[in-house]
Amino acid sequence: MLKKNEIYRAAVTGFTSEGQGVCRVEGCAVFVPNAAPDEVYDLRITHIGKNNAFGKIETIISKSDLRVNRLCPYAKLCGGCDFWHITYEAETAIKAQRVLDALNRLGGQSLREMPITAAESCQSYRNKAQYPVAMGKKTVEAGFYKKGTHELISIDRCLIQPEIADEAKAAVLAWAKEYRISPYDEVNHKGLLRHIFVRLGAATGELLVCLVANGEKLPREKELIAALRQKLPNLRSLTLNTNTRKGNAVLGEKTRTLWGADYIEDVLCGLRFRISPRSFYQVNRDQAEKLYAKAIAAAGLTGEETVLDLYCGTGTITLCLAQKAKKAIGVELVEAAIADAKDNARRNGIENAEFFCADAGQAAQKFSQEGIRPDVIVVDPPRKGLSRDVMEAIAQMSPKKVVYVSCDPATLARDVKLLCEKNYKLLHAEALDMFPRCSHVESIVCLAKA
Ligand code: SAH
Repeated sequence: MLKKNEIYRAAVTGFTSEGQGVCRVEGCAVFVPNAAPDEVYDLRITHIGKNNAFGKIETIISKSDLRVNRLCPYAKLCGGCDFWHITYEAETAIKAQRVLDALNRLGGQSLREMPITAAESCQSYRNKAQYPVAMGKKTVEAGFYKKGTHELISIDRCLIQPEIADEAKAAVLAWAKEYRISPYDEVNHKGLLRHIFVRLGAATGELLVCLVANGEKLPREKELIAALRQKLPNLRSLTLNTNTRKGNAVLGEKTRTLWGADYIEDVLCGLRFRISPRSFYQVNRDQAEKLYAKAIAAAGLTGEETVLDLYCGTGTITLCLAQKAKKAIGVELVEAAIADAKDNARRNGIENAEFFCADAGQAAQKFSQEGIRPDVIVVDPPRKGLSRDVMEAIAQMSPKKVVYVSCDPATLARDVKLLCEKNYKLLHAEALDMFPRCSHVESIVCLAKA
């Protein structure tokens, strides 16, 4: 039996989906933050759960060559990133292995290797930042939460964000300090300013700043507008989002434009997209272009096909598909994203794309009942993967190909297995790193009717 606070010697044998090392101690899996491949530690057990335990490195007994000095001074504490302490090559190898293991162990496949497309840069690659705001020791602060907590670490420079995002955050903070704007306190649900949300069109340079507040109005809005316009010359949109709910969701339902447009534009795969604050947009534009190119290639279109894109966001993949198909249909739950998608079709002169705001499962069931039979179905669901009704509708519509873009290898593998039970076979699978230095990994697979 493992004992809490006791020290044990163990080697790293793998990694969890959250990027922690896995060590086996007396038959129990112990999860260890800041681990590097194949290292041996003296570990202190910090927590014992039902099926596993957590440990902390006391001493590195055998150190890996893959361990490096962290470029980010906050990395050890901050909950944002997981892999600053190892080389990027080691990180991508861990991620590829994770996708491979998931598809083989949970997905019933017997793949030998998993290609992964690494990112060209591990820095400044994100186009979206959501900085939580809280009361610091003396004054209002913004940054990121400490790993596994809601304790704020005030951060001046986050290396995975573009500098302009940190500058926008600093400009909002300066205004909040000058006019004593109260930060939100999630314990007693009081105070106003909750998050500073920043989005940058990486190709256009357009900047969107959205303040998330526990209320519908901000004091000193005029001063805020003037300060941000002066400090951020590429500001295109300044909005106020109201979130008066308790809980972790960053954005609320309502957004009001304080200044400028209520969206920004970016260019992706040669198309121009408008993106509102509440719409999903891939956070790493360069990697998203590569991902979409792979999805389009996997669809193998000739111009004659009808394509269904479930979970389409602002229509990014749908419109790329539409250019190569007879018709493309996109389905998405968030209304703002569908409004963006329709506008995006218009602004790019694409006439063979149709968009529906609906739950993917309900829409797919309806299409299936109406006798719609797409040749290819593309899905890009959130982490929980495909719902049962989506799965059933896909089986009924029986497309020649299913292209599955996934941000969670475990649910992808589960769904691949289900699709294989419904007479599909896996043609191709690969991983792509959308989130350098963080544990998340994107993958894309193509299945064909057996
Ligand atoms: N393919 C798009 C978006 C992928 S993210 C892109 O690459 O930009 C997943 C999307 O699924 C999000 O836009 C989210 O709002 C949407 N979504 C989540 N649950 C959904 C559901 N039940 N039905 C339809 N869309 C859903």
